[in-house]
Amino acid sequence: MGGIKKMGDVTLIQLSDLDSNIYIIGDTAIDSGTGLNFTRLYQMMKMLKMSLNDIKCIINTHSHFDHIGGNGYFINADIAIHDADADVVEKGDSKMSYAEFFDGSLKPREVKTRLKEGDVISAGGMELEVIHTPGHTPGSICLYDSKTMTLFTGDTVLSDGMGRTDMPGGNDEQMNASLDRLSSIKVKRMLPGHGEVVLLNSPKTVGEIMSSAPVPDDG
Ligand SMILES: [Zn+2]
Repeated sequence: MGGIKKMGDVTLIQLSDLDSNIYIIGDTAIDSGTGLNFTRLYQMMKMLKMSLNDIKCIINTHSHFDHIGGNGYFINADIAIHDADADVVEKGDSKMSYAEFFDGSLKPREVKTRLKEGDVISAGGMELEVIHTPGHTPGSICLYDSKTMTLFTGDTVLSDGMGRTDMPGGNDEQMNASLDRLSSIKVKRMLPGHGEVVLLNSPKTVGEIMSSAPVPDDG
């Protein structure tokens, strides 16, 4: 697996099965992968006629290693992550970030912006509204641009169903409440933290997309 997918104003970079999806919007990246496939990341950025130094902001959807491990390679980027997950990044917490699972270790990185519910981040013409959706981790967020009906869902919703709650920081009750909140949001693009993206010609609610997804197993 791996490749580049251009979707108009958003470009998806997929490095490997373990790395999170990396979305590039203008000079902003959403998540940064594990950092363990640096050469591939470097090459793909080059294919996009960009360098890692062009990225000025990284928004992390949550503090798991496969989404934040690559932050260190973007030396010109300010890091933005929800307040409840920010300490994991700043402390370089390998346990809570699950870095050990990936045979990696997390280096501490300053968090420039501690996000909270309702914050809006401008990125490449999009106005990304922060929706706090705890459950996968305490500080998991989704990002919604209402103009283009684009929702970045991190690991809260994947194309085949809800995200896991059995990893560090997971909570079933919070996840259910978060999914309830998301279910009425209308999207034309649902861009999750791993795997396939959902691209629609006419908008559907997240609830409609989830109810038509195959039932996930215990994972
Ligand atoms: Zn995760």
